[in-house]
Amino acid sequence: MRFSEFASRFLLVRKCASCGELLPYESKDEAFCGECRIKWDVEKTRECGVCGRSVCECVCMTKALSDAGAICHRKAVFYSSSRPAVHNTLMFIKHNKNPRVTAFLASQLAAILRSDKDIPELCADNYVITFVPRGRRAVIEKGFDQSELLVRALSEKLGIPWAITLRRKRGGREQKKLNASQRVRNVKGLFEPVAALEETVGGKRIILVDDIVTTGASMAACISYLTRAGARETVCLSVASTENTKSNKKLSCN
Ligand SMILES: [Zn+2]
Ligand SMILES: [Zn+2]
Repeated sequence: MRFSEFASRFLLVRKCASCGELLPYESKDEAFCGECRIKWDVEKTRECGVCGRSVCECVCMTKALSDAGAICHRKAVFYSSSRPAVHNTLMFIKHNKNPRVTAFLASQLAAILRSDKDIPELCADNYVITFVPRGRRAVIEKGFDQSELLVRALSEKLGIPWAITLRRKRGGREQKKLNASQRVRNVKGLFEPVAALEETVGGKRIILVDDIVTTGASMAACISYLTRAGARETVCLSVASTENTKSNKKLSCN
């Protein structure tokens, strides 16, 4: 076995998702070292600037998502590039195919869904879990789509089937490089439904997953395809969303 293979199998998989420190062998199921796990838990208690609830209880969503008819948008943490526990973790899952970190994040998201009394009962017959797909180039480069990995892990935790429902078309600019109005224009025609989408989502409730939600334009575009294919309603779910503030007029709060 070459050293690089040894490292990726036995060393890299044990890295803390935030600080990169090697984790002890006994902490089999943890994504973080002790210190970073505390920081992650602090992030979960941050208050929403609009509804005043902690982020994991916040049901605020962007105007794009409420206009698209989403039931709610639940998230585990607010994104900030200055807070390493969140920023580094999102970078980590983007660049590393790491089942431990993915399983940890999926269990955090599953707990949020299970604690939400407003979400219709989570059962395998009524729901399909799916995701906002990454650009083709990123998937080819990395060899995986971090949102798909999250969805597979979430499906296992919740016992609800998952499916690929949409694909990114060729071309199209990366959303993160654009401002809000450019994002709305760019996102039109960015996705295409997979064949026989109606059979997968018709009459079902959808749990639509993304790693981070900013304006919600990509998610909203996905919802419109799912709705057209006969999906009943959509619960939006992301690891992070950009922080809610009262000055952000694009938010609506239930
Ligand atoms: Zn750490
Ligand atoms: Zn809120």
